[in-house]
Amino acid sequence: MTSPTYKRILLKLSGEVLMGPDGVSIDPTVTARVAEEIADVKAEGYELCVVVGGGNIFRGLAAAAQGFERATADYMGMLATVMNALAVQNALEQIGVDTRVQSAIPMQSVCEPFIRRRAVRHLEKNRVVIFAAGVGSPFFTTDSGAALRAAEMNCDALFKGTSVDGIYDADPKKVAGASRYETISYNNVLSKNLKVMDASAVALCRDSNIPIVVFNIREHGNFAAVLRGEGVSTIVT
Ligand code: UDP
Repeated sequence: MTSPTYKRILLKLSGEVLMGPDGVSIDPTVTARVAEEIADVKAEGYELCVVVGGGNIFRGLAAAAQGFERATADYMGMLATVMNALAVQNALEQIGVDTRVQSAIPMQSVCEPFIRRRAVRHLEKNRVVIFAAGVGSPFFTTDSGAALRAAEMNCDALFKGTSVDGIYDADPKKVAGASRYETISYNNVLSKNLKVMDASAVALCRDSNIPIVVFNIREHGNFAAVLRGEGVSTIVT
């Protein structure tokens, strides 16, 4: 059961949750649905930070395997996360949720640079703060960005919104009878090499004592339900 005492939470959205069924990178209808889930949780009084990935558009590692220089490819991936951040911002503002985007790579004409104290102020003013560009350096992922921002923003938990409903002992799409963990320790996630978040992100959450809650954000009402301790998820502590 998730503790309902969380006040400030960080939601990590993989880029793929914005994708449409026909492979459109940023599907407006799907993005609007995700925004509604966020708005519902915001309306319940939580302080919300969001970190968006970019894998629906560009992944550095995959591009490097095709011949791109890795660092350049990673910068391209980080720029992809900025596009997703603007899409989520747009969808949230269309339903009346006040937001700010802060990027780890400064681009003043598009959004604010990441400034921690300013981000805290935005939360106090009831805005959702969307963090883009991960940690701002190549060879990292937005999972690490999410863990880092969760730690420095003093978040009570990191919610990883995906298109599966938790962590399984085997890939549920490939292995019949794979079972979902209700809870699991950080060290078990690391030693079993479970593909939840990358190892550095899990270790940072462990060292900062931040629970990771993995849940399906595509299921209507599940985000709010998990926060109430009722939805389906896996909690890493
Ligand atoms: N990336 C990076 N540094 C960061 C965050 C992201 O270099 O701090 C790049 C990396 O190439 C990554 C891409 O941005 O593949 C997209 O991010 P990610 O794969 O984490 O997105 P997600 O899988 O969450 O959609």
